[in-house]
Amino acid sequence: MFSIRKRFVTHLIIAAKVVAALELAAQPVPDLKTAPPHAPARQLPDSIRTDYYEVRGTNAEALLASMKARQPSSTHASTEWRIDWDYEWQQKPDECILRSFTTRVRVRYTFPQWVDWQRADKTLQGEWKRYFGALAIHESGHAGYGIAAAKEMVRFVNSREWRAPDRNELKTRIDEACDKILREFRAQEVAYDQKTDHGRTQGARLTTIR
Ligand SMILES: [Zn+2]
Repeated sequence: MFSIRKRFVTHLIIAAKVVAALELAAQPVPDLKTAPPHAPARQLPDSIRTDYYEVRGTNAEALLASMKARQPSSTHASTEWRIDWDYEWQQKPDECILRSFTTRVRVRYTFPQWVDWQRADKTLQGEWKRYFGALAIHESGHAGYGIAAAKEMVRFVNSREWRAPDRNELKTRIDEACDKILREFRAQEVAYDQKTDHGRTQGARLTTIR
């Protein structure tokens, strides 16, 4: 099981890295001559954590029952993400301007960990491996919405100049813009679960074999 788990963790890291690499590639190369005077926003590295809950069983039905009994949420696996954004401003005599803006995505995955897999036959071990891989792909899709939302916040903040009469007004405008982006991506994430039937159309369903 360790090898499956290790490969899975690597897979998740790769998934996040692919997204990050695409984002890096999509960003224009900074050019000192043509860079706008205000491009204060940037994305900090994502923070990704994976927790496991133990499940047991020597047939698929027992495994499904064990997951149902022990899963901490309403599904076999879950992904929570949030975006922390932060800014620095400069108060001038007549206005407040944005100096810097950063986002950081925090992802927490929860997955089942089959602890007594060695007691089961090879067919079930293979099916679990397949199922787990599909589950991981589905969950990393969830995280992708958080990462994409943070990217959009950075793009939006950099797309205009931010100045307001005072700090509170500046903060309100940025928070409103970020909250709107967050709502849009959360809605897309809900649609993703509907479209994939919580990953089942991606193969995240443990087949019961007799
Ligand atoms: Zn889902």
